[in-house]
Amino acid sequence: MKLQIAVLLAAFSSVLAVAQTPPAPIQLQHIDVTHVESSVDPCNNFYEYTCSRFEKENPIPPDQVMWGVAGELSEWNREILRQILEKNETARASRTPNEQKIGDFYASCMNQAVAKANDLDAIKPLLGRIDGMRDKREIAGVLAMMHSSFGSAWQGDENQTAVALFGFGPQADFNDVSQVVGSVDQGGLGMPNRDFYLSEDEKSKSIREKYRTLIITLLKLDGAAATEAAQDATTILRVETTLAQAQMDNVTRRDPNKLNNRFTLAQLKALTPAFNWDSYFTALGAPPVPLYEVSAPDFFRAENKLLVDEDLATWKLYLRWQLLVAATPTLGAPWRDAAFNFNRSLNGQKEQPPDWRRCTSAVDQGVGEALGQVYVAQVFPPESKARALKMVQDIESAMGRDIDAVTWMQPATKKEAHLKLAAVINKIGYPDKWIDYSSLTMTRESYPMNVERSTAFELARQLSFIGKPLDRTQWVMTPPTVNAYEDPQTNTINFPAGMLQPVYFDAGKDDVLNYGAEGSIIGHELTHDFDDQGRKFDLKGNLRDWWTPADAKEYDERGACVAREYTVPVPGMPGVQQNGNLTQGENTADNGGIYLALSALAADLQQQGKTLEDKDEHGLTNLQRFFIAYGTAWCDPIRPEFAQTLVKVDPHSIPILRVNNVLANMPEFQKAFGCKAGQPMVHETRCRVW
Ligand SMILES: [Zn+2]
Repeated sequence: MKLQIAVLLAAFSSVLAVAQTPPAPIQLQHIDVTHVESSVDPCNNFYEYTCSRFEKENPIPPDQVMWGVAGELSEWNREILRQILEKNETARASRTPNEQKIGDFYASCMNQAVAKANDLDAIKPLLGRIDGMRDKREIAGVLAMMHSSFGSAWQGDENQTAVALFGFGPQADFNDVSQVVGSVDQGGLGMPNRDFYLSEDEKSKSIREKYRTLIITLLKLDGAAATEAAQDATTILRVETTLAQAQMDNVTRRDPNKLNNRFTLAQLKALTPAFNWDSYFTALGAPPVPLYEVSAPDFFRAENKLLVDEDLATWKLYLRWQLLVAATPTLGAPWRDAAFNFNRSLNGQKEQPPDWRRCTSAVDQGVGEALGQVYVAQVFPPESKARALKMVQDIESAMGRDIDAVTWMQPATKKEAHLKLAAVINKIGYPDKWIDYSSLTMTRESYPMNVERSTAFELARQLSFIGKPLDRTQWVMTPPTVNAYEDPQTNTINFPAGMLQPVYFDAGKDDVLNYGAEGSIIGHELTHDFDDQGRKFDLKGNLRDWWTPADAKEYDERGACVAREYTVPVPGMPGVQQNGNLTQGENTADNGGIYLALSALAADLQQQGKTLEDKDEHGLTNLQRFFIAYGTAWCDPIRPEFAQTLVKVDPHSIPILRVNNVLANMPEFQKAFGCKAGQPMVHETRCRVW
């Protein structure tokens, strides 16, 4: 299970964030350094200086939760995918096997919307299995069927794995990544994390009430009477709250040493004797392996107690609810309406997305490498890949210079850092080897059944990695995704083609703008390799401490400065408080990334006989243009409801802090715009790790 990957953007913002059908085909945005708000002093609020005109001209559409340059690019990517899917949704003999799969998957989703089908029939066999249990020992087998049908049991997030009871998937052994072992993770909650169950503030209480309403509504759609559904909701909330209490909090979860809990199969069985692991693994076709990584043993102890304490009827109810809520996105409109009514309390969304957008995202999620292959062929030429790779390599050289230059690190630690840097694998655009979907059946008939089959296919593919040597070539994001990630266990940095597009990466623009926008992102991912999580892994990806105690202490002091600096109210959003301990790694990556990009740019300009002080036709220096490009890349206005959720669950800071806090730490920025001590964009204490 990839618990440790460090992504650039909140992963679920791209899932939730979807826009209205635009009146005209969406155009790619390009950075325009003159498109700033000249009435705002850049030394007062650089985010507002670079983003307020964009914000005024691009109000958040009703079905969006944040809407900025990332959203517009996602939208452009989705339009490309839509064209590909509409071309292939009609049966014709000349479709390739992959075109048949993506086209029919899309058609099944669109047809369901047209027919207003309910489709609950598709999950009746699973509901029957839950109802038919005669003994709690049968829960394991039923759970395996549920995990093989909906959700992503193999993929944890920063908080939990969002499937019934717990997550299960492959993970490289923390101590020896050459071997992939089994990993079990805390899970079982229908809300994003434990705080939503346990916090006593008014906002949290109101969200819990809406969650209760969601449970009641879905149970009634499933045929329960109103009074029965209300009682059942109380029971379900009691079970989930007990699980929430036992979950590890998301700040503790950032420390990989806390997740490295090594169990043999016998020990795993002893940890949760009430759960029949043999029948779970057998039903999944996952042969036993010598080692299981258990992210949160206390959670499994509590789950065991819950399995003992609660009766069979309660477990039938909990599993029924978890199946219904997991299947809801694939069922008819009344189901999705109910989910939307709850989700809007978490994200402020005003309207639901149109069907084509929802269905396009579903194909990307279900068979993303089949769809992504066509996408890449259309929009990501080899020249883009070559130019992006050169930027990555130049930024790695800058990291090497930075390691040499830091004054707080001793030669022994520096030597290890250089070895780790040299071992980083760069993955640009798309996989070298695509997933083979030939054993996966897709038909036009039933959308939920297509989702069930693609889930079963992917879970089986994931479980096939267990017990084998680590494969560093696999991707965890699809090619059209507007995001990027670093994975310390494979020691890779990964940049999907979806983000190697304007405004971030623009073949038509000069290096100054490309380094300010995309270069900072590349630097961000590379810095993750050396942030407070990444630094705990060595060049091979093993969790091994290669720091002298003195250097580790120096590091931690610098990290603590960053954590303090970001524990602040989010400007312009009353009541929204950033948690600098949750966001420390991302903030370190933001702060380090822009330095690496600037250093690489300066070296490149020097080679071309240019400097950072050279001016363009508007009188802007290259350094000013670099910072404006950086600011523009983060113009992502966000609904306050969504910001309120993100500060609880997301390790990234809200965009305004990703711009202003980073630049207020940089003398280079202050010099470029003539900012003076005492102004908001000049921090008195400048935090810097890299
Ligand atoms: Zn990141």
